[in-house]
Amino acid sequence: MTSAKPVFNFCSGPAMLPIEVMQQARAELLDFQGTGISVMEMSHRSDIFISILDSAEQNLRKLMSIPDNYRVLFMQGGASLQFSAVPLNLMSAYRRAGYINTGYWSQRAMAEAQRYGAIVELASAQCSNFKTAFAAGEVDIPRQLDYVHYTPNETIDGVAFTEIPDVGDVPLVADMSSCILSASIDVSRFGLLYAGAQKNIGPAGLAVVIVREDLIRPDLPNTPRLLNYHIVSEQVSMANTPPTYAIYLANLVFQWLLRKGGVAQIEQHNIEKAALLYGALDRSKLFYNDVRAQYRSKMNVPFFLREETLTPVFLEEATRFGLLNLQGHRSSGGCRASIYNAMPKAGVMRLIEFLEIFENRYV
Ligand SMILES: *Cc1c(COP(=O)(O)O)cnc(C)c1O
Repeated sequence: MTSAKPVFNFCSGPAMLPIEVMQQARAELLDFQGTGISVMEMSHRSDIFISILDSAEQNLRKLMSIPDNYRVLFMQGGASLQFSAVPLNLMSAYRRAGYINTGYWSQRAMAEAQRYGAIVELASAQCSNFKTAFAAGEVDIPRQLDYVHYTPNETIDGVAFTEIPDVGDVPLVADMSSCILSASIDVSRFGLLYAGAQKNIGPAGLAVVIVREDLIRPDLPNTPRLLNYHIVSEQVSMANTPPTYAIYLANLVFQWLLRKGGVAQIEQHNIEKAALLYGALDRSKLFYNDVRAQYRSKMNVPFFLREETLTPVFLEEATRFGLLNLQGHRSSGGCRASIYNAMPKAGVMRLIEFLEIFENRYV
C-alpha cells in the first residue's frame, strides 16, 4: 500500500488495539527490555514473566478499583469457555441459576449452562427482537438460585444495560466481553465478572475473570482442573502454561489506559464517540439504528440501510474508503461499527463523513 489514506478497523472482535500498544509490542518483540529474547520465548516461571503477570493484575485492579476480596484470574478459551466454567464452579447449592436473555450471547451462555443444572430464563427481550434491555428492578428474582447471569452489552444487536440488575443477595455474574474497561463500574455489586480479551483487552483466547473470594469453592472434584477457579486461583493463573504473550499485551493495554487517565476518562471519550455516531444515523434518511434509545450500546453500533439492496454496495465502498469490517453479524445482517476503547474519535468522524458522502450519492 502506497496510499497514506487512514484505515480504521471497526471489527467487533478480534478488534483493533491502540496504535501505541502495537508500536511498543513491535519495539520489544525481539528483545524484551535488554533480556535478548522475546516475551513469547520466556519461561512462564521466570522472574520477568511473573513480574509481567503481577503487573497486569495490579494494573487491572487499579483501573477497575477491584476490592481486595476479589481474585483476578487469567484463563484460556475466551469468554465462551466461561459459559461452562461459571456453572461448573457456581452451580453448587441449588443447581439452579437464572439467566436474563437479551440476545445472542446471553443465549449462548444459557445453552451451555443447561448442561449442568436447571436454568430459569428470568426475562427475555425476544419479543422486541432484542432491541431492548431491562431496568434495574424490572426483572423478578425468585428464591434459591445459585447465581443470576446477564450480558451488560450485547455485542451483536448493540444493546446495553444502563443499570445493574437488582438481584438482592443472589450472586450476579456478568459477561463483560464487549464492555469491560469502557465505563466505570462498581465491582462490589457483582459476584463474578468475565470477559474474553479480544474487544477491549488484547488478543483472542485470553479471558479475564474477576471473582469474589467466597464464591470460590475448593470441593469441586468434577470440575476440570483448568476451569476450576480454586485451582487457577491457588496456582496464580499458572495451572498450566498461561497465554504469556496475550497477558503481556493485555498489560500494555492496561498501561495505555492508565496513561490515558483511566476508565473514567475513556468513558467520557466513549460517550462522545457514540453520541456523534448515533446523531449522524438519526439525522440520516438512508441509515438507521432501531435499538430503544436508552439501551443503545456505546461499543457496538449496528445500523441498516432503508434501501437494503444498497448494503453490499455500501460495505464495498466503505472498505475502499479505508473503513474496514463494517458488515453486521451473520445472524443480523446489515452493518455494525464496533467502537471500543481503542477506536479514536478520528475513526468515528471518518465514518460519519463517509455515511454522508454515500447518502448524498445514492439518495
Ligand atoms: C465476543 C463475545 C463472546 C465470545 O467470546 P469468545 O472469546 O469468542 O468465546 C461472548 N460474549 C460476548 C458478550 C462477546 O462479545
